[in-house]
Amino acid sequence: MAELRSIVRGTLLENEPMTRHTTYGIGGPAAAFVTPRDRKDLSKILKFASQHSIQTFFIGSGSNLLVADQGIDGIVITPAKALTNLEFNGGRVTVESGVMLGRLVKECNNRNLTGMESLIGVPGTLGGALVMNAGAFGGEISNNLVNVDVMKMNGQIETLNHGDVDFAYRFSTFSKDEFILLARFDLEQGDPRQIQERSHKASRGRKSSQPLRFRSAGSVFKNPEEQAAGYLLDQAGLKGTKVGGAEISTHHANFFVNHGDAKSADIAELIRIARKRVYKKFKIKLDLEVKTIGFNQKDLDPHAS
Ligand SMILES: Cc1cc2nc3c(=O)[nH]c(=O)nc-3n(C[C@H](O)[C@H](O)[C@H](O)COP(=O)(O)OP(=O)(O)OC[C@H]3O[C@@H](n4cnc5c(N)ncnc54)[C@H](O)[C@@H]3O)c2cc1C
Repeated sequence: MAELRSIVRGTLLENEPMTRHTTYGIGGPAAAFVTPRDRKDLSKILKFASQHSIQTFFIGSGSNLLVADQGIDGIVITPAKALTNLEFNGGRVTVESGVMLGRLVKECNNRNLTGMESLIGVPGTLGGALVMNAGAFGGEISNNLVNVDVMKMNGQIETLNHGDVDFAYRFSTFSKDEFILLARFDLEQGDPRQIQERSHKASRGRKSSQPLRFRSAGSVFKNPEEQAAGYLLDQAGLKGTKVGGAEISTHHANFFVNHGDAKSADIAELIRIARKRVYKKFKIKLDLEVKTIGFNQKDLDPHAS
C-alpha cells in the first residue's frame, strides 16, 4: 500500500466502503479505491498492479454493480470525476470515460445532434455505458460509435474501431483488463423538435415505470427473448418479496431496491429466489444484467453446480 501511495497522484482511498460508490449503496470496503489524475497516472498504477499481480477492477459510477459484503481485496479504479473532457467538432463528439451519460445527452441535445436523446436519464459514466452497451427506448450507446481508446495493463493505449468490438443487448466484448479512456461518436444534425420529443418520451417512460425513489442498480436481469424479465418476475408472484433490507420492487419487478440497510447477501438471496421461481413456472433461466464483484456463481444461481 505504501508503494501504491507513493505512485498515485490522483486520489487513493484506503479501505473505502463501496457503499459510497454504488447506486445500491451496498458493498464492503475496497482495499484501495483510486481515481487517477490523468493518463500518465493511470498507466503507472496499471503497471504497478500488473507487476505485483494485484487484482484490479474498473468501475464507473457503480450504477450497474453489486459488490459483496466482504469487500474487494484489490484496487478499484474509476475515471469518474477525473477523466471528464467532452469535446465537439461539428458532429464528431470525443468523450472521456468519466463523463456522466446525462451530461453527454444534454450537450448533444443542446446542439441538435441526434442519436443520444433516448438515453436521457440512464445513470452512469460513458465508460460503464460502453461496457454495458447501455440502451433505452430504442437507442443504444454503441449506435453512433466510431472508436474507443483503451489502456492495457502494460500502460499502452490502443484504439479499437467499432468493428473490433461486438455489441449486443446489454453486452460488449471489451476485455476486463482494458480500461476505457475515451470514445468518439459521429452524430448527425436532427430536427430539434423531434429530439426534444424523443427525450421527453424517454423521461416520462422512465419516471412512470421505474421506482426512482429507492436505491437500485436498474434492471437486475436481462430480458430473455421470450418476454420482459419484469413480466416474468411479476407473473411468478415475486413483487414485494423481501430479504433483510432488500425488496423486489412492487413498482417494477426487475428492480430490486435497497430500503436503507440492505446487504449484498440480501440482494443475492433475492436473485436466487427469483431465478428459482421463474425457472419453476416458465422453464426460463434468467441472465444477470447487473455486474457483480466478489460472488461465487452458486451465491447467485440456484441451478449452479
Ligand atoms: C435507476 C436506474 C435506471 C437504469 N436504467 C437503465 C437503462 O434504461 N438502460 C440501461 O442500459 N441501463 C440502465 N441502468 C443501469 C446503468 O445505469 C448502466 O448499466 C450504466 O451504463 C452503468 O454505468 P456506470 O458508469 O455506473 O458503470 P458501473 O456500474 O460502474 O460498471 C458497469 C460495468 O462497466 C465496467 N466499466 C465501467 N467503467 C469502465 C471503464 N472506464 N473501463 C472499463 N470498464 C469499465 C465495469 O467493470 C462493469 O463491468 C439503470 C440503473 C439505475 C440505477
